[in-house]
Amino acid sequence: CPPCGEKQMRVVGWRRVASTLSPSPPAPQSQAGGDAARWARMYEVVRRRGLVLPNSEVYGGLASALDFGPLGAQLKKNLRDRWWRDFVERRRNCMGLESSVLMNRAVWEAAGHLSSFTDPLVECKLCHARFRADHLEQGSGGQGYMCPCPQKNTDFSEPKEFNMLFQTRYGCTEDSPMIPLRPETAQGIFTQFPAIVRNHRPRLPFGVGQVGKSFRNEISPGHMLFRMREFEQMELEFFCKPEEATHWYQYWVQESLQWLLDLGIPSEMLRCEEAVGEEAAHYAACSTDIEFLFSFGWGELWGIANRTDFDLRAHMLASGKDFSMRELQESGSTHTLPYCIEPALGLDRLMLALLSATYTEEEVLSADGQPTTRSLFRLPVDLAPIQMAVLPLSKKEPLVSIADSFADRLCSQIRCEVDVTQSIGKRYRRQDEVGTPFCVTVDFETPHDGCVTIRYRDSMFQVRMPMDQVVDIVSDSNATLWDFQGPQSTECSTG
Ligand code: ATP
Repeated sequence: CPPCGEKQMRVVGWRRVASTLSPSPPAPQSQAGGDAARWARMYEVVRRRGLVLPNSEVYGGLASALDFGPLGAQLKKNLRDRWWRDFVERRRNCMGLESSVLMNRAVWEAAGHLSSFTDPLVECKLCHARFRADHLEQGSGGQGYMCPCPQKNTDFSEPKEFNMLFQTRYGCTEDSPMIPLRPETAQGIFTQFPAIVRNHRPRLPFGVGQVGKSFRNEISPGHMLFRMREFEQMELEFFCKPEEATHWYQYWVQESLQWLLDLGIPSEMLRCEEAVGEEAAHYAACSTDIEFLFSFGWGELWGIANRTDFDLRAHMLASGKDFSMRELQESGSTHTLPYCIEPALGLDRLMLALLSATYTEEEVLSADGQPTTRSLFRLPVDLAPIQMAVLPLSKKEPLVSIADSFADRLCSQIRCEVDVTQSIGKRYRRQDEVGTPFCVTVDFETPHDGCVTIRYRDSMFQVRMPMDQVVDIVSDSNATLWDFQGPQSTECSTG
């Protein structure tokens, strides 16, 4: 890394990370080696509960394209809002930006994407399936790759660089130019850098964050939300003095890691991998991937790169515009071309990581004393798509009307829904499976005593209390309600 020398960057960067994480944390028991059946059940819950839906399913779908159902869309929004709050809104020296997906082709020419945004593609000579070479298992023969086909073929075509840019025709004539759909949100920030400096007069260091869709024609998309062709990124471009780049790079690795831990992701499911010099992407001097232990093994969740002045310099040279910043010093003013540290996070991958980290299967006793397995997502209360479900014990009146008007009172403060169909036990299970932390049951006594039973998802502890008290707890202090826990109990005293 130019400011400090390659070796020092590797050692210092790693030691700081290691203060929070051990370099190679052991996989947690339940995940180790990939309990395939358990993960398959988790994916099944996610699909069955409509968090994620196959795209254009009524026409047979579109490979690897996914939609988010109402609960998935809400969960995604909650994560997006949390990131925006913590990386943009609550930082005095950071601001947001929204640039468009389609940009002048010259942007991608200058940034190197037209020539270098490639992955190595190989083809199995037996089954003709195509793979990203660095994703294939190592075999013993040929170039060392092994096809996952039943024959476990090791005879592959030579790797060729496949450019992952999607291109579309921009204009209504046949000779209108083809331009790429952005493969990262970052270039929208870099190209607006002179305008941001002109309009906002920021002092170094400062950051510009952006959330938005990116598109990559991935060779082998898959693992549900992990690798998609259309996905969403949350990127911060943090500009600093070149001599401070090492400091800020390490700072953002730590901040990113801490943010994941604060989200409730256990440290043993996270690790850092650093790439320096040649190992890093073409635009970066060095980078750290924060990896998560997904169902298929470790995979990149968040990339933090020291992009140096690569992008600003490239756009300055190609556009002929001045991207430097004037800085006043005692000796007069100087012009600096800032360095950029980029923490880049994928929203879809983050959602998959959070679901994976909070998915739990446990043996419980049903209302009739029989052992049964319940599946739940222990989602943090502020991120859960539904925070409170109101369940009338019967579809009969006045229980449903009471439940409806109670939910009406709550829903200005929390995300609330009324669930009326099926037995109360099945409804509890359904809410567990979408991570709803609290269920409130309206029973036959409620019309007489105004009390309801509130049940906490994780402990299944239940307590009966006046409806007004539930409303008070919610409105007075979310923290009191959210900390509400109790001893492990058997399910459901009410049904
Ligand atoms: P990978 O090595 O997995 O292809 P990358 O290094 O190319 O990822 P970056 O360019 O650093 O990824 O993008 C930043 C983040 O965007 C990644 O850490 C990841 O969370 C997310 N991301 C990248 N590609 C995809 C994709 N195809 N689908 C979903 N998320 C993605």
